[in-house]
Amino acid sequence: MRAVVDKDTCIGCGLCASTEPEVFEMDTDGKAVSIADTTDANRESVEACITGCPVNAIHAEE
Ligand code: SF4
Repeated sequence: MRAVVDKDTCIGCGLCASTEPEVFEMDTDGKAVSIADTTDANRESVEACITGCPVNAIHAEE
């Protein structure tokens, strides 16, 4: 699974990058970016980021 951030929607709160830094980081524009595919080890954490994003800016692609 690959988590994808819609940068137009992201408000740069940092929640996803602090929750799952293996998959998300904050880009130089202050918006989150996905840097890696989801693994079995971090899938639950990534799903928590998807549901926890306050503006629903993250979705999953298989
Ligand atoms: S949780 Fe959502 S709004 Fe916050 S940085 Fe991540 S993608 Fe952006």
